[in-house]
Amino acid sequence: MTDHRQLSGKVVLATHNAGKLKEMRELMQPYGVELVSAGELGLAEPVENGTMYAENAAIKARAATAATGLPAFADDSGLSIALLDGAPGLFTADWAGQPRSWERAMQRAHDELAKRGHAVEGAAAAFVSALVLTWPDGHEELFEGRCPGTLTWPPRGKAGFGYDPMFVPAGYTRTFAELGPEEKHGLPPIGAGLSHRARAFMALAAACLKGGG
Ligand code: IMP
Repeated sequence: MTDHRQLSGKVVLATHNAGKLKEMRELMQPYGVELVSAGELGLAEPVENGTMYAENAAIKARAATAATGLPAFADDSGLSIALLDGAPGLFTADWAGQPRSWERAMQRAHDELAKRGHAVEGAAAAFVSALVLTWPDGHEELFEGRCPGTLTWPPRGKAGFGYDPMFVPAGYTRTFAELGPEEKHGLPPIGAGLSHRARAFMALAAACLKGGG
């Protein structure tokens, strides 16, 4: 079993994704940790050549710790569509192209399903998040979260980022983009953790943040 270590003071969130930064700031806000992002610090983005979410999260967190000498954490996440054998998976961000367009990414999900003769509506999917924390002395911790649901078409809602407008979490009729941040996180006291990131974060908070257990 891992010996958990408490996180405090200044911590780098190893991301250049504004949507993830906003969500992590919301999630971290009650814990008195000073969060600064790799994007804000102007750190280079490392090549994510891992074969699993946890590996890519570790690559990003380690690079941020090495560059700053501070504890860092990274989220690597993605969408897995059952009828596409788990795609886009590790390539979830890549489907948005360059410059990133979430409309293009969602359209690609639609088109890949259509090519195989499937409707988007009701297609089973899950969001997955791996959070890795790294410290300058090499200590590391990993937390994972998953949110199952279905896809819908056309996309609906304005909140959130990425594929939120086409994802309906299990047990809901509204998309992540219609739910808005509080319901998407679904943290206590209003819920037991809804999004993949909130679920992984709750495990992280219980283990590594003061007042998180
Ligand atoms: P990466 O973890 O930076 O490689 O990118 C993961 C990609 O998954 C993001 O760029 C989004 O497109 C998508 N994604 C991850 N989490 C969410 C979410 O909560 N809502 C919508 N899309 C997400």
